[in-house]
Amino acid sequence: MQIVGFERQSDIRTGGLGLAGDSGMLADMQDETAVIDFQDVSYRVGDTQVIAGLNLKVMRGETLVLLGRSGSGKTTTLKLINRLVAPTAGEVRVNGVPNAKGDVTRLRRGIGYVIQDVGLFPHFTVARNIGLVPKIEGWNKERIRARVEELLQLVGLAPELAERYPRQLSGGQRQRVGVARALAADPEILLMDEPFGALDPLTRDQLQSEFHALQCRLNKTVVFVTHDLREALRLGSRIALMEAGKLVTVLAPLEFVKSTDPWAAAYVRAFGDGLESVAKRSAS
Ligand code: ADP
Ligand code: MG
Repeated sequence: MQIVGFERQSDIRTGGLGLAGDSGMLADMQDETAVIDFQDVSYRVGDTQVIAGLNLKVMRGETLVLLGRSGSGKTTTLKLINRLVAPTAGEVRVNGVPNAKGDVTRLRRGIGYVIQDVGLFPHFTVARNIGLVPKIEGWNKERIRARVEELLQLVGLAPELAERYPRQLSGGQRQRVGVARALAADPEILLMDEPFGALDPLTRDQLQSEFHALQCRLNKTVVFVTHDLREALRLGSRIALMEAGKLVTVLAPLEFVKSTDPWAAAYVRAFGDGLESVAKRSAS
């Protein structure tokens, strides 16, 4: 399906002539493992340049962390992927298909989205919240029930929580439900916007390590937003550092802690000692 859509897009670019020498097409073929590809992407609102000239590829199965201080453009970058926001210049491609040309419903069907305050429906039970997307997809009741049960187990929640309402859960449990809901229809891509940001340190630590284990099993393509360097080092296969709407550098965790880049070094200084062991632990 993806390949068919992709060929059609290439045809649009080449005016339907199917030119084999089209340089865009050649680049696509070389990047076949880039699931998400930002090509010179900018986003401007009035006079505010929110994102400027972003070039970034997210490879299949990796956990790319967008790291940066508040207001650096991390959330906007995530929203450019599922087209909650459209670039004012440049192009975002998902599986080779430019977002502007593809079908937005189909795009979002392949993307799970987890946000800090989860966004669970308060008047829906846990089961109904988790089963939301499968229901929209037209799954039958029994299949949804079985999937909900499987997901509760996957994220470490007892089966009897299925009939509770979000207000009857702890913050950590709600966050787990948020992850379960995002995974419900088995999307290829997961976007996570500071998913553990509001949790107490112990719960946060536990969810980070469980998420890391889960990701090793599921191998989703994940874009994970945080302002916490320790979290980035622990969970990221690569860390993309953002500052004032620009991408500063993209580095593997161990490279990041040793980087001489002034912005990366400032981040490392601010977070203090012991970071190398965090980065090494995640690499092992
Ligand atoms: P982060 O998630 O890193 O904190 P955001 O992507 O939410 O950053 O926002 C980056 C900057 O762009 C912020 O200063 C924010 O106020 C600004 N911004 C984002 N969206 C808009 C908008 N629609 N209109 C005006 N400013 C915006
Ligand atoms: Mg944000």
